[in-house]
Amino acid sequence: ATPTALMAGTGRGAQLGILIKGPEVLETARRIDTVVLDKTGTVTTGRMALGRAHTAPGTAEADVLRLAGALEHASGHPVARAVAAGAAARTGAALPAPSDFTDVPGLGVRGTVEGHHVLAGQPRLLADARITLPPSLAGALERAAGQGRTTVAVAWDGEARGVLEVSDTVKETSAEAVAELRALGLDPILLTGDNRAAAEAVAREVGIDTVHAEVLPQDKAEVVRRLQAEGRSVAMVGDGVNDAAALAVADLGLSMGTGADAAIEAADLTLVRGDLKVAPAAIRLSRRTLCTIR
Ligand code: ADP
Ligand code: MG
Repeated sequence: ATPTALMAGTGRGAQLGILIKGPEVLETARRIDTVVLDKTGTVTTGRMALGRAHTAPGTAEADVLRLAGALEHASGHPVARAVAAGAAARTGAALPAPSDFTDVPGLGVRGTVEGHHVLAGQPRLLADARITLPPSLAGALERAAGQGRTTVAVAWDGEARGVLEVSDTVKETSAEAVAELRALGLDPILLTGDNRAAAEAVAREVGIDTVHAEVLPQDKAEVVRRLQAEGRSVAMVGDGVNDAAALAVADLGLSMGTGADAAIEAADLTLVRGDLKVAPAAIRLSRRTLCTIR
């Protein structure tokens, strides 16, 4: 490839809303055969909203919302923002400030609110603390996840107290983007830290067959490495701090311009408007750019 043709391709990319780190990126893009897509914020909008609240027998919904909301208010995660905003709106009161707070990446949050030791996050976070859900909450959690919702289990003082439903929306263009990736001969794979049922519901909606769910942030890069070990040339598309390592390991890292700075820095290519349809456009551009010069 001549430098001039690659520079022209880079300029054309900018017009399409693709920021390319360097001209050589287009050469790599041409070889890609597998595209790993992060779920939250990449395939979905990541603008989550609090849905139903389920409580354990004898627990008041207002307490679940206040204690979970207070802790989540201290986390920047999209799930956390939805819970904190929803809790403040529904209780109609200011959330108390936690006296102690820890973010557990990919799992949830833990800390102390009003003297209670509170956990909020994936059921695994509670299970790790040897807290089991009563049957009514376990059932609610399973039904919500089956409908594609993210669920936040809430416990305090060693007991499970509630389950909150959080919903996200698939981006309007995601299904079309996946179809275009397939048409280019690329194999789409969904990768997420979210629960399997929610991940599969999103995958079905956009037409992806292969799903890696419940993957902890530190293990996302390992999923990419394993695909590479199978001889695949892998592109990763992500938006979160949690995706940065996987974006760096991938042969081609694509970040959402709407995402975290760490993701944008780790990527080779940035989709400025956060529109997934620009991903197949980038691959097409790389193929066309290199065709015209051979
Ligand atoms: P993703 O891979 O979908 O971008 P993460 O790895 O950041 O998501 O988180 C994986 C899952 O962990 C989320 O879907 C959510 O269920 C749970 N989780 C992470 N952080 C929080 C939090 N602050 N509160 C509640 N749940 C959380
Ligand atoms: Mg994400």
